[in-house]
Amino acid sequence: MQSMGYRHTFFERVKRQGAICHFGEQGRCCTLCPDGPCRIKRRAPKGKCGIDADGLAARNLVRLVNQRGAAYTHDFKLTLKTIKAVAEGKSPFCIKDRNKLLWFAKKLDISTEGSDREILGKIADFLEKEFMKDTDTPLDIIYKLAPESRIKKWESLGIVPGGFIFESHEAGTKVMPNIDTDYLNLSLTSLRLGLSAGFLANIATTIIRDIIFGSPDITKGYADIGVLDKEYVNIVVHGHVPWTGSCSGKDGKTGEVPENGKGSRSKRHKSLRKFMHRSGNAPETRNSPVS
Ligand code: SF4
Repeated sequence: MQSMGYRHTFFERVKRQGAICHFGEQGRCCTLCPDGPCRIKRRAPKGKCGIDADGLAARNLVRLVNQRGAAYTHDFKLTLKTIKAVAEGKSPFCIKDRNKLLWFAKKLDISTEGSDREILGKIADFLEKEFMKDTDTPLDIIYKLAPESRIKKWESLGIVPGGFIFESHEAGTKVMPNIDTDYLNLSLTSLRLGLSAGFLANIATTIIRDIIFGSPDITKGYADIGVLDKEYVNIVVHGHVPWTGSCSGKDGKTGEVPENGKGSRSKRHKSLRKFMHRSGNAPETRNSPVS
């Protein structure tokens, strides 16, 4: 890495950070309002607003889960837009795993009448409605995909969620100073957020990627940082935005990516897949440099 001009790698930065801050590590530090920052310690067991250590740690966790859920459902939103475009024949992507398409439609009680693109369009409509459900309207997808024993448990805890948009809105309000300081209620809120984002953004999105990219199989690939090569323009993409990554890989192969801004006489482009979840039967999704 140093030979390529990268002097500050992750490993060096970790070393320079030194000892971990235990207030931060245990969630006992708060910067939520202008009265802070507050740190919970033996001689100060409550923040200026009165929240205790358990409430503060649980509230910090809600904020983290909410933010991560937003990032995952952002990809879900792009996924919805993409499959709508596929359904309308306006996308370069196509349906590669028809069996999974039909399986998913049946699981969601969606009619499999019509063309594959029409079925995909109906799945997109179903998922979009789920995404927009308010917090008092439980997600149908959970009842269609989750094991019964889990559903009973989640119902008993009152955490079967609605769509992420409104769950996130509710959670964002709860974590305001003095709105909700109860660690148990806040912890249950984290679980609601996790279920909402998980079933929409992780489970549904993963199934859709299988439908579009093809279900994964085992393949060989390069996966470490050693694939970076200063003779190339290295484009690093990752699995959180697989649609862009897939297109970049394809463009890198066909030479449609323009030369870099400095006008260097670089060799061809290399698209490197970082954290790519799948390899699949789609050549453009292989976890290997495009050369
Ligand atoms: S919300 Fe409470 S604990 Fe957090 S910074 Fe403000 S006063 Fe301190």
